Amino acid sequence: MRYYSLNQQAPTVDFRAATIAGQAPDGGLYFPERIPQFSPEVLANLKTMTRAELAFEVIQPYVGDAIPTDVLRSICAETVDFEFPLVPVTGQISALELFHGPTLAFKDVGARFMSRCLGYFSQQQTAPVTVLVATSGDTGGAVADGFLGVEGVEVVILYPSGKVSPLQELQLTTLGQNITALEVRGNFDDCQRLVKQAFLDPQVLAHRQLTSANSINVARWLPQQFYYCYALQQWAHDTAPVVAVPSGNFGNICAGLMAHASGLPIGHFVAACNANSAVADYLRTGMFAARPAVVTLSNAMDVGNPSNFGRILELFEQQHAAVSRLVSGAVVSDAETTATIGRVHQQTGYLLDPHGAVAFRALEDYLTEHPEAHGIFLETAHPVKFPEVVEPVIGTEVPVPVAVRGLLSRTKQSVLLEPDYAALQEFLLR
Ligand SMILES: *Cc1c(COP(=O)(O)O)cnc(C)c1O
Repeated sequence: MRYYSLNQQAPTVDFRAATIAGQAPDGGLYFPERIPQFSPEVLANLKTMTRAELAFEVIQPYVGDAIPTDVLRSICAETVDFEFPLVPVTGQISALELFHGPTLAFKDVGARFMSRCLGYFSQQQTAPVTVLVATSGDTGGAVADGFLGVEGVEVVILYPSGKVSPLQELQLTTLGQNITALEVRGNFDDCQRLVKQAFLDPQVLAHRQLTSANSINVARWLPQQFYYCYALQQWAHDTAPVVAVPSGNFGNICAGLMAHASGLPIGHFVAACNANSAVADYLRTGMFAARPAVVTLSNAMDVGNPSNFGRILELFEQQHAAVSRLVSGAVVSDAETTATIGRVHQQTGYLLDPHGAVAFRALEDYLTEHPEAHGIFLETAHPVKFPEVVEPVIGTEVPVPVAVRGLLSRTKQSVLLEPDYAALQEFLLR
């Protein structure tokens, strides 16, 4: 498979080069030259295939011959070695729980897959690769865990001091080995600005092979198609589901749209947004305007100019009518988010996290208009990661799952950094 840049000013590359570079040299996102189609056998056998087999079938055409089949099979098996249960919440709505991975966030799948691909590629490289990433919370933990111990790859994570939740900070700062956490005395925008500057700094680029690990990278973006396949494996209704996706950078929903374009039977998508509604507004009006991000309770979705929006437009050949036929936008306020967490907990016993709550509410509204349909929302993080939002609403503590209890006794190790580029440059040139 070849990948071209959405800015059209760079040569096409294979999966290996796209993964190592992250972004094309003209600043564009990479996009596959064709959309593979699921074979009739795969669609017929969906329910009996193992998760690892299905993952391999989905991703192999995108990887092409960049990774040998046996290596790719084991990368797939390691990436999805935890559950993705579809849990009924109401008669009409089920949760696809994507938080059973090691850092309790759906980003684990993309981070685990990409880290293993990069680890394989770095075996044939002489220069080590540095993954440089800014995080407002979930990305950092998933990337740190995914890349821990991967040879030939060093990971540098910038996070805003005092602005990630305690559990998230422990996930970033306690691993050691090839993972370094830079604690920036500033906000997330400062972290992102510093990272962007490093990617443009010839001195740093001469010294290190840099790559990003956000959903711009095809190796982190494309494996998110697996979730939608696992939802369909567990789907018991006759009609195709409506799927609501809590969206920020729109990498996750765009992966779902790719799976749909490959033939996966999904009836409709709902792009669930918080107050950062640029794409929802586009879906409604046909006009797109990026805006500065505003802070909300579902902070992993606080993105004013979603990077994967360009990929969605590309998939639908820039046709608003085609996108809006398959995808509806919804905007959910903070007040509606907390009200939804409280009401659903009281009526069903199910505890939503703020991101899942946005999607639940958006789906509920869609299904009110389409009473014959059934739907799935993606529950993208465990509620324990957002105790400051969830606990006041339900009036009790959220128990910490066994999987992460060990973290609480570990010691934070971070390097304090002033929010100016000279400090980051010095660190990267050492
Ligand atoms: C990253 C994240 C999102 C948004 O996903 P995108 O692919 O950026 O749209 C939603 N929920 C949670 C919990 C996240 O961490």
